[in-house]
Amino acid sequence: MTTITDTAATSTRLIASVPTQLFIGGTWRAAAGGATTDVVNPATEEVLASVADADVEDGVAAAEAARDAQAAWSATPARTRSEILYRAFTALMERQDELAMLMTLEMGKPLAEARGEVAYAAEFFRWFAEEAVRIDGGFSHRPDGTARTLVVRQPVGPCLLITPWNFPLAMGARKMGPAIAAGCTMVLKPAPQTPLSSLALARILQEAGLPDGVLNVVTTSRAAEVIEPILTGGIIRKLSFTGSTAVGKILLQQAAKQVVRTSLELGGNAPFIVLPDADLDVAVDAAVQAKMRNMGEACTAANRFYVHTAVSDEFAQRLAQRMSALQVGDGTQDGVQVGPMIDAASRDKVQRLVEDAVAKGATVVSGGNSVTGRGYFVEPTVLSGIAAGSELLNNEIFGPVAALQTFTDLDEVIATANDTEWGLVAYVITQDLDLALNVSERLEVGMVGVNTGLVSAPSAPFGGVKHSGLGREGGRLGIEEFLDVKYIAIPIRERGLA
Ligand code: NAP
Repeated sequence: MTTITDTAATSTRLIASVPTQLFIGGTWRAAAGGATTDVVNPATEEVLASVADADVEDGVAAAEAARDAQAAWSATPARTRSEILYRAFTALMERQDELAMLMTLEMGKPLAEARGEVAYAAEFFRWFAEEAVRIDGGFSHRPDGTARTLVVRQPVGPCLLITPWNFPLAMGARKMGPAIAAGCTMVLKPAPQTPLSSLALARILQEAGLPDGVLNVVTTSRAAEVIEPILTGGIIRKLSFTGSTAVGKILLQQAAKQVVRTSLELGGNAPFIVLPDADLDVAVDAAVQAKMRNMGEACTAANRFYVHTAVSDEFAQRLAQRMSALQVGDGTQDGVQVGPMIDAASRDKVQRLVEDAVAKGATVVSGGNSVTGRGYFVEPTVLSGIAAGSELLNNEIFGPVAALQTFTDLDEVIATANDTEWGLVAYVITQDLDLALNVSERLEVGMVGVNTGLVSAPSAPFGGVKHSGLGREGGRLGIEEFLDVKYIAIPIRERGLA
């Protein structure tokens, strides 16, 4: 069994092995101004490390390094790119335990979930290692016979990748895998709360043979100031952003200045619909998965539960039982299933949303108490009878709080589920396949989980509609986001031998 002392010694050694500098043009170096920013363990509130805090000059240098590496990288054979990706996959899996511990220390998720994220992230490198050598084109005859049409796909060019803190390794991997496969160079800006996983990954890619300048990592506490000149400076040809809808909209406007191709993976407000014929074992398992993965700090987290009145009381009781049995604590410790929120502001926001719902008439079925002491913990909570107008119906809760409402009419519940600006994912629980497909097709979302609380898979196109984003990550479509199509016209004249 792991003890706290073991963990402390392991973490100190682990943190000391991770680079904390900027990675620009294949060189690890301090920020130009020498500044650093602290990374805090959300379970203990202790400072884990200080990493370089880039300023505008560093950001521009990173973009220039990406520009300078682009031509040679585009010309690198696909097989070489594929082999680098495959080596990265292998290295991540070999180092799964240490990378999981690193992620748990900086982000808080329980170790078992962090190990799962390392495997999920690694799989993007394997998937795109396989895709790198399958970038195809087209050939056709012009209908009047006067020309041939050749279609080729080429790397879009230097990319800017911006990631959030909630999946510190996977969100970067989901962008870097296809960018490398397509032959693009990159500037990565990870979230300031969780830069260590990205820096460790950059070193793995360097060791896997990624040429200098193909990946550049800029850690900064001044995102707005550092990113705008990179994005609008004329070097970057592609933005891939994962984060909140509010920031996504700002970046979309900035990208317009240079007509930069843009993929946005933004926020969600997922409905979870339990139909009257649902198998309640399946429903409760899926609900716990959709709500509690990552402590509820996931864009895919079920935010609004709609349960048919025929099963609503039993579903609420069984979900409350499961949620209150979960062990909350420091994710590095054995048996812990629910870690802390990322910071005090996130914890306070979740608690405020619960208080607002209760003030407007919700019943606390389980949980609901604030947690005192060190670390930013929130008790897993089930609320029922959420009143219209409660703030959590129109905000990402981003915490371990399940908000239950009931329904009787299918058309009404679909209309209510769709009555939001977001459209990332929805969950439908039923034993009737016709009904599952019918409801899935009517929901305004990019993804639907039928009888499951988990939709993320490297082989599937992840993404949303409406204010949840643009483009898809993963699957066959993932690499397309990093490729431009070029058509070459070849006129052909009838001719014989001279
Ligand atoms: P966020 O505040 O939007 O931040 C995301 C990233 O953008 C961070 O690296 C952040 O750095 C940076 N950023 C913020 N303002 C910026 C600006 N003006 N210019 C350039 N970069 C800027 O989101 P978050 O709180 O980290 O993450 C949670 C959000 O991400 C939720 O809304 C969640 O739903 C969404 N998310 C979506 C997906 C998906 O695939 N759809 C996946 C995971 C998370 P700073 O922190 O320094 O500002």
